[in-house]
Amino acid sequence: QDEPRVVLSARGLGKDFFGFTAVNNVDLDVHHARIHALIGPNGAGKTTVFNLLTKFLQPTRGKITLLGTDITNTKPDKIARMGMVRSFQISAVFPHLTVLENVRVALQRPNELAVQFWLPLSSLDRLNGRAEVLIDELGLTPYRNTRAADLSYGRKRVLEIATTLALDPEVLLLDEPMAGMGQEDVRMVADIIREVARHRAVLMVEHNLSVVADICHHVTVLQRGEIIAEGDYATVSQDPRVRTAYMGT
Ligand code: ADP
Repeated sequence: QDEPRVVLSARGLGKDFFGFTAVNNVDLDVHHARIHALIGPNGAGKTTVFNLLTKFLQPTRGKITLLGTDITNTKPDKIARMGMVRSFQISAVFPHLTVLENVRVALQRPNELAVQFWLPLSSLDRLNGRAEVLIDELGLTPYRNTRAADLSYGRKRVLEIATTLALDPEVLLLDEPMAGMGQEDVRMVADIIREVARHRAVLMVEHNLSVVADICHHVTVLQRGEIIAEGDYATVSQDPRVRTAYMGT
């Protein structure tokens, strides 16, 4: 009854590829200040759902609402400006620039057309201020003058998330944010995602189920394009259909 507001929702979402149904009848509610996981075996339709939500793919069926606005027919570039971004979408981390420089570039990007060659001093101050706040929020302050190329893999990922947050999204979509990381980086990135989700909604595809158990408030399990279970991790992990799905049937 005390659930925070819904910021992103899908109803009856479906996608056919040349007659093959990749996603069918998906209902989803993503809440502010919550971490929502999308899990399921390979080929379950997780990536397709992400592409539908961000409008990289046009749904065959269903309706998507972002912050109260129907975005079923909205173009992807507009979606980002409306407040939903996907981590790789702007993964413009420049290896030769420092952490601070990378975040500043990302902060400038949304205003690029208006800014042209120079900024008035006051907006430069504002830009630097916002960059410092973001860097601090993501635990990157000790690395602010480190070149992106010299960061660990995990921190590079965090910097990528920082550049995404430069657009000030209300909803952040992360596609396997811990992929290829060692234990230590996994734990660090998990903490960062928890921090990020204090003020934003996060929807993530994640294969590492202990991370899902640890940080996700809500889990939606897909199999063959349809939802087979949802709820908190403790609930879905007990579901016989989920257990069977993960045993590879
Ligand atoms: P997941 O991300 O859970 O591994 P996907 O969303 O990538 O699953 O794929 C779901 C199903 O849709 C798979 O059977 C895949 O082969 C199929 N699929 C995905 N994209 C396309 C496409 N562009 N054309 C045809 N089939 C596709």
